[in-house]
Amino acid sequence: MPCGGKEVTPQAYRYAMRRERGNMQFEIGDIVKLKKKHPCGSHEWEVLRVGADFRLKCLGCGHQIMIARKLVEKNVKEIRKTLDSE
Ligand SMILES: [Zn+2]
Repeated sequence: MPCGGKEVTPQAYRYAMRRERGNMQFEIGDIVKLKKKHPCGSHEWEVLRVGADFRLKCLGCGHQIMIARKLVEKNVKEIRKTLDSE
């Protein structure tokens, strides 16, 4: 009889890793969810450029912003990889 250990979802695993390392990997094409929402109502941004400053595009209205990496790291709730399979 299998011992009913608790399942770890990929999402929970990623979250745990992030908490442990305190070091996030952002790549172009990722979708990030920020704590602050854009006036258009969307929380989600596509990463167009990474570096000391990021360029993000709002998925709600297409507005682009430049934002310091520090601020992204501080405000991000979730990173969604769009290129997981390759
Ligand atoms: Zn927007």
